[in-house]
Amino acid sequence: MPTFEFQPILDAHPHDTPYRLITADHVSTVEAAGRSFVTVEAAEASRASPREAMRDIAHFLRPGHLAQLKKILDDPEASGNDRFVALDLLKNAGIAAGGILPMCQDTGTAIVMGKKGQFVITGGGDEEAIARGVYETYATSNLRYSQLAALVDVQGGQHRRQPAGADRALRDQRATSTSSCSWPRAGLGQQELPLSRDQEPAQPAEPDGLPRAKVRSLGTAACPPYHLAVVIGGTSAEYALKTAKLASARYLDELPGEGNKLGRGFRDRSLEADVLAMTQRIGVGAQFGGKYFCHDVRVIRLPRHGASCPVGIAVSCSADRQCLGKITRGGVWIEQLERDPARYLPEPDPQELGGAVVKIDLTRPMAEVRAELSRHPIKTRLSLTGPLIVARDIAHAKLKERLDRGEGLPST
Ligand code: SF4
Repeated sequence: MPTFEFQPILDAHPHDTPYRLITADHVSTVEAAGRSFVTVEAAEASRASPREAMRDIAHFLRPGHLAQLKKILDDPEASGNDRFVALDLLKNAGIAAGGILPMCQDTGTAIVMGKKGQFVITGGGDEEAIARGVYETYATSNLRYSQLAALVDVQGGQHRRQPAGADRALRDQRATSTSSCSWPRAGLGQQELPLSRDQEPAQPAEPDGLPRAKVRSLGTAACPPYHLAVVIGGTSAEYALKTAKLASARYLDELPGEGNKLGRGFRDRSLEADVLAMTQRIGVGAQFGGKYFCHDVRVIRLPRHGASCPVGIAVSCSADRQCLGKITRGGVWIEQLERDPARYLPEPDPQELGGAVVKIDLTRPMAEVRAELSRHPIKTRLSLTGPLIVARDIAHAKLKERLDRGEGLPST
């Protein structure tokens, strides 16, 4: 019999995350059976972390993400549109930091993943406490939730929509802390494109082969610049997608840089560089042309079945709402996000940032507006003046149904 060796597939723990203390209350220790246990009042402590995190990630960003936006402004290879987008996102970050308006209006769905050590006693009810914490933030803030209950008959009453999903896995028997990772899932804020392939994925020598078509198909639907994660392999398609999700949140950055015979997951940094270069060549840019389709790329390679290779692709969008949290014997903590994004905002040079902007007067007849638009190529930056009605997602489908029925667009 071969020697047994245990090894987690994903052996990575963020170690340099700055945290801020939410409260030192509701956590204590107790000695029993010769061990020290951390006792957590779930109804209070497990609730406090997501409540604070959901508010923070609606208004604040990670310092690293802001620094990457500033880098676009400083890069002479960035297109005018890249820099225009980066500058606007930095301005938005400044407005959001005021605590009234969120960074993006699509505040979507709260997703919480967590794990609890065996020497932590909460008394149960963690999922409910986490959901309640999220609920309290959504109920008291300018946040919109997007989930619809899967009901056929919705007449006769208002169905409260629960914006939170909690997924907590119990593991790590030696741990005396509980930790979580929170982010809202907006309409397209995170995309996973499951592929199940029965052929060998791209090798480093041909980095464009596998992900290029899929990466390009992301387009601007999820608001680049992206933090892109590509997972190649996985013991199942579900595992590949979950790993892609964690990687896009930069939770797996500390993975080793090479695999081993036990099949550990690793970051393929060589392929990361190749894929990042590919994203710069496809020309989509931050939006409407340029170099910055992605801020960065993670490529995670996982063990897989010999006859199939799942591939997962995920992005974190320009709202990049991620926050780590933990409960230790010292209290309840969440990741410290940047409170002063203005310090990443340079003095803008109107000459440099301006470029060609076509002014469109929306009060003109639509035929004239369309004729004017037809004279300019895609990528042209427009300055729109006049009334504008916007709709997205299912509203477009409903409008098209009306047009197809010959009913025209609603006038009120
Ligand atoms: S993709 Fe991100 S930035 Fe774009 S609308 Fe959705 S949440 Fe907002």
